[in-house]
Amino acid sequence: MMQIFVPLNFLGFVYREIKASMANIEKMFDLLKIKSQVPESSDASVLKVDHGDIEFNGVCFSYDERQIIKNLNFAVRAGEKVAIVGSSGAGKSTVAKLLFRFYDIDEGSIRIDGQDIQTVTHHSLRSSIGVVPQDCVLFNTSLLENVRYGRPDASEQEVSEALRLAHLDSFISQLPNGLDTEVGERGLKLSGGEKQRVAIARTILKQPKILLFDEATSSLDSHSEKAVLEAIEAVSKGKTSLMIAHRLSTIVNADRILVLEEGEVREQGSHAELLALGGLYSRLWAVQQHEETE
Ligand code: ATP
Repeated sequence: MMQIFVPLNFLGFVYREIKASMANIEKMFDLLKIKSQVPESSDASVLKVDHGDIEFNGVCFSYDERQIIKNLNFAVRAGEKVAIVGSSGAGKSTVAKLLFRFYDIDEGSIRIDGQDIQTVTHHSLRSSIGVVPQDCVLFNTSLLENVRYGRPDASEQEVSEALRLAHLDSFISQLPNGLDTEVGERGLKLSGGEKQRVAIARTILKQPKILLFDEATSSLDSHSEKAVLEAIEAVSKGKTSLMIAHRLSTIVNADRILVLEEGEVREQGSHAELLALGGLYSRLWAVQQHEETE
């Protein structure tokens, strides 16, 4: 018994560490507002996204001298939902940053619909990928303005459709001022789940072919989590989705799960396949199940 308890206890520690460090990825989204340090070539073309295929081919990347990503190969096909999981420091948010070309890679290529991201404009690349961050930035204005931010010229009908898909319509119908309700400083008058669904509604309006989800359901109670997961399901239908996740229970339905360790894909498959494999993923799963029933 002791033999099982000790590793499980250790993995529990690792998992808590992972959870605590998850806040770091939010910083990545601040980078979206910072001008990229990577130069844009003078003959850069506009990225044309027809399907939304993503390919990482033999990607190597180092921060300073330290190699973080080692010969990374994976593809996300149009319409596929792929989750990236792994312990803290495995390189998950680095993969997302490389997709946005915040840094240039040392070797290999990253392609979207066959176009190398090093050959396209920053603007066309970043506006093609919709991001649903863990903690979205809301402005101290009405709900309508906050959702419209996704695409200021969206029609009222398009806004209503986005709200419906993001499972916000019944919540809004209960508010005396409906869509004109002020959300308060940084959205303080909304719950965490409502804020995330506003972020999802914004992304729906933006209509990107590619979606990147930061662990969008952390720190929510199970009722709000369910609403957010349903909204994610609706928005990601038919779109290429990359989900960076720590809580494995939120990504069990992904078409494919990549388990990253030390910058390499160590395991990949569906939730059921990875459990059957009995490796790293299944150990993380056992720990998280154990923690959730504690
Ligand atoms: P976490 O779950 O803790 O967010 P992660 O899997 O997302 O981890 P990354 O943020 O991709 O991991 O970091 C991978 C490694 O790269 C870590 O060891 C980290 O310390 C290092 N690293 C991240 N950003 C930088 C940077 N800007 N400069 C130098 N090293 C960095």
